[in-house]
Amino acid sequence: MLILMEPSATPDQVREVLALLEASGIRCQVNQAPEALSIVAPHASQALKPDRIEPMAGVRRVVPITSPFKLASADSVTGRTVVDVRGIGIGGPELVLVAGPCGVETREQLFTVARYVAEAGVKLLRAGAFKPRTSPYAFQGLGLEGLRLLEEARAEFGLGIVTEATEVETFDDVERSADMIQIGARNMQNFALLRRAGRAGKPVLLKRGPSATLDEWLYAAEYVLGEGNRNVVLCERGIRTWSDHARNTLDVSVVPAAKALTHLPVMVDPSHATGRRDLVIPCALAGVAAGADGLLVETHCHPEKALSDGPQALLPSDFIRLVERAQAVHHALQLPTATGLWL
Ligand code: PEP
Ligand code: MN
Repeated sequence: MLILMEPSATPDQVREVLALLEASGIRCQVNQAPEALSIVAPHASQALKPDRIEPMAGVRRVVPITSPFKLASADSVTGRTVVDVRGIGIGGPELVLVAGPCGVETREQLFTVARYVAEAGVKLLRAGAFKPRTSPYAFQGLGLEGLRLLEEARAEFGLGIVTEATEVETFDDVERSADMIQIGARNMQNFALLRRAGRAGKPVLLKRGPSATLDEWLYAAEYVLGEGNRNVVLCERGIRTWSDHARNTLDVSVVPAAKALTHLPVMVDPSHATGRRDLVIPCALAGVAAGADGLLVETHCHPEKALSDGPQALLPSDFIRLVERAQAVHHALQLPTATGLWL
């Protein structure tokens, strides 16, 4: 249930409601919206009836959350969540680009890419130090050494660092180094990892599993939110279909569908969605046009030498073109139409 407090509710009145929930064994989260405070209690209606809470001083109304995604549901908060990653707001008015090579390979490779990514105006660098690979014989990432290089790149270029946590055992290391922690597509239903991410003090970028439905993806987000981490960004990265011209199929319609159900920001990763450099820019633009709050794009200074995902990595010149065109599409969406309505 969602407990909406009066704008005039005093701290003592809020404390009384929280004390009643706690005494009934109910976990809850407090949202401080600009107008008034609200309390989301995902499982409260099983233990407490609304008419027990509604008459309490300072309570305006108790609203049931009918969505099965209690914390991710758009009904559970007023407005949309903007996730702050080192001063960059994902889910706000700006289109946010997150870019870099698939994996950290060498200092020279990482710094070369970081330099042109930063020069293109991008503020968040993404590269994997721990790589989840289909084959156990493929490059698995530099691990701790990769994290150290990412920290150096942050210091050198002033970029925020996004990198993946693949297992609970090394999560602490990733959490220390990263400004945002990626949970990869294949770990979308690794519930121990999701819970650990929910206890992290850093925002989480949650990729959609290659065969996950929208519901399954939002339940995964619920695992993270349920542990207290409210800073979750969803990322569509293509799903597996029978279409075989590309690595995956970008599910463009999931962007507005997800945004209708949840208050969380939604990004699009056209790189893993296509696996093909020539399809990355058109699919990125489609994602922005569909309302994505940001893009996650792989780029490499020498894609032909990349240790992972070279065929989908944008060349530096293509990357700059992508940034310009994506921002142009985003700005076009802000323009009033001939009818005076906003797109
Ligand atoms: C990646 O981002 O490099 C990656 C492995 O992506 P995904 O989890 O979407 O396959
Ligand atoms: Mn990759």
